[in-house]
Amino acid sequence: MNHPIASYLQTDNLGAWGTYLEQVDRVTPYLGPLSRWVETLKRPKRILIVDVPIELDDGTIAHYEGYRVHHNLSRGPGKGGIRYHPNVTLSEVMALSAWMSIKTAVVNVPFGGAKGGIRVDPKPLSVGELERMTRRFTSEINMMIGPQKDIPAPDVNTNEQIMAWMMDTYSVNQGHTSTGVVTGKPIALGGSLGRRDATGRGVFVVAKEAYADMGCDVTQAKVAIQGLGNVGGEAARLFAKSGAKVVAIQDHSGTLYNPNGFNVPDLLRHVSIAHEIKGFDGESIPAESFWSTPCDILIPAALESQITKVNAQLIQAKLIVEGANGPTTPEADDILKERGIAVVPDVIANAGGVTVSYFEWVQDFSSFFWTEEEINRRLDKIMIDAFRGIDSIAKMHHVSLRTATFIVGCERILKAREMRGLYP
Ligand code: GLU
Repeated sequence: MNHPIASYLQTDNLGAWGTYLEQVDRVTPYLGPLSRWVETLKRPKRILIVDVPIELDDGTIAHYEGYRVHHNLSRGPGKGGIRYHPNVTLSEVMALSAWMSIKTAVVNVPFGGAKGGIRVDPKPLSVGELERMTRRFTSEINMMIGPQKDIPAPDVNTNEQIMAWMMDTYSVNQGHTSTGVVTGKPIALGGSLGRRDATGRGVFVVAKEAYADMGCDVTQAKVAIQGLGNVGGEAARLFAKSGAKVVAIQDHSGTLYNPNGFNVPDLLRHVSIAHEIKGFDGESIPAESFWSTPCDILIPAALESQITKVNAQLIQAKLIVEGANGPTTPEADDILKERGIAVVPDVIANAGGVTVSYFEWVQDFSSFFWTEEEINRRLDKIMIDAFRGIDSIAKMHHVSLRTATFIVGCERILKAREMRGLYP
């Protein structure tokens, strides 16, 4: 069967979207009769590109490019974050939306996959400019979102305040308060306890489980973390709390090494004030040396395509747990497999965030809020059960954890797709 590629996908450099397509191709032979539907996964359901004009504080008018992509809605409403970053592109948002479809299916929460973003460096914007941009963007994507349609959440450079503005803008446009339209909101506006830390917590829980499966004890581990934001920061805190040593850290401002382990609470205090690791105590090393640092567990928790065919050769860790979305290229994946380094893929490792987003959405609908203990208990169980299921499939088929995870995710999506059938 010949499926001509859609015109907007015809680009030489597919980046993260290319990585995703390769991941789907690799899993297709394991999908049996469901592979008849696999093309569904290679095309987003719908894409909206919007112009976001705002008046800056100096009176000039700035225009930003915004996106919202619904990748797949077979299993439920769209779900996925909103990213503000100067390098956001349509193909990146497409990839991130597709990974959300797989992720929600892997942890079996009743959502499809979506993602949005604005191509902007939010750092120089004033609070007022950020609010105007967020509200205008929300109005522009109003037709795509809703508690039963598509539920945005925070991602890189977006936070609870931005979710509050999105919720308010949507609610004002609807004429009534609609808390369930976004997750990751402030607690006072229908947010959930535990949501902010959920992604980092999930990374730690899955890392501990995977490391134990290798016969090792996380409390004895040396850990290297790239990215000390919401995900990497909370993961670092939990590793250190367990007794593990965080020996190497990297962010946009530099790379630091401390073979005895950083004082993580001090480090997080520094990052919360400086918004970067620069200036914190530790030996400053070249960026490339981060990958070859002696460590047991490596946590990429920044952006896509960080582990490449070049640095995959240098990695010393026994286990990589992907806090970021799409941090490993397919070529790097092959090298890591050859070198016997286990990789817990993003679509399970960082699924803690969307899992507690699901809890938040449920709590908003029922207007009945759970305790943090209840949330963490349910989160840990979902993450551990999902990991164990995937691990046994990997062992059964003699495939990598990534392939096993994609088998589970793709099967769930395509079964739903098949049962619903084509209409009209
Ligand atoms: N942005 C997060 C992710 O990539 C969370 C998405 C959500 O909670 O909807 O998984």
